[in-house]
Amino acid sequence: MKIREMQDEIQRLKKEKDVCILVHAYQSHDLWEIADYIGDSFGLAQQAVNAPQKNIIMCGVRFMAETVKLLSPDKTVILPKSGAGCPMAEQFCVADIEKLKAENPGYSVVAYINTTASLKTVCDVCVTSASAVKIVRAMDAEKIIFIPDCNLGGWVSKQVPEKTIKVLQGGCPRHAAVTAEDVEKAKRTHPNALLLVHPECKPDVVGKADYVGSTTGIMSYAKESEAKEFIIGTENSIVQHLQLEVPDKQFYELSKDLICNDMKLTTLGDVYQCLAGKAGEQIVLPDEVMKKAKTCIDEMLRLG
Ligand code: SF4
Repeated sequence: MKIREMQDEIQRLKKEKDVCILVHAYQSHDLWEIADYIGDSFGLAQQAVNAPQKNIIMCGVRFMAETVKLLSPDKTVILPKSGAGCPMAEQFCVADIEKLKAENPGYSVVAYINTTASLKTVCDVCVTSASAVKIVRAMDAEKIIFIPDCNLGGWVSKQVPEKTIKVLQGGCPRHAAVTAEDVEKAKRTHPNALLLVHPECKPDVVGKADYVGSTTGIMSYAKESEAKEFIIGTENSIVQHLQLEVPDKQFYELSKDLICNDMKLTTLGDVYQCLAGKAGEQIVLPDEVMKKAKTCIDEMLRLG
């Protein structure tokens, strides 16, 4: 089947089977074209809550599908590829965090949304990359342990110097692989381009940026800016998406290695197979995990 034929068939099947398709921004363009919603992980989970459909296919990685389930417990949530995980979300386990809490009495634990649902059960509040600074500032706690991304945690710590923030040595292996040399090379090649980076990048990369923000923030900034050229310091699919959406501007990769292989596991064919009932994993979480992890997200919504 050709791509266009498969996309048409997916559009037909999703209506017939009452399915809403969520597509994370790091997915390929052929998936964007069949999406009901495209965006960051938490934004997608919120869209699912209001979607009229009873069934959700989440084209992303496992923690994202879990977050959708936490917010929409009565909907059937399918992850097209069981093996699509996130190395950062799975870096720590519940026992690691419980030990850390015992060693650091009086500290509150802040979890980046990029964590497993079970890890969220032992944390006090979630944050997204867009809301992290605001939420950490709004918390009553003065002493905070930030998991799992040390780069995002360090960036938040700089914006909120009045609080004591401990970070762990975790993070996104894709964003953390970008170096200051990559920045220098990209700026030499594209001297008129603004550098837009995700706070999951290392501090010496973030320190050279013209704008630091979430993937959605980077895309909005590039579209609204009067500048014409941009070096994009997040997953490389964003370069392609921006180039297609804004053809009169120029977008460049910061590093050719900024590719999330886990995100790229999900293909159009997988979504088609899910709709045909031949692939995909239904996300099922224990009641206790549903309840406790949701508390962590509710606290984010209360503070944010
Ligand atoms: S880009 Fe990084 S944080 Fe995002 S899913 Fe891939 S490994 Fe995880």
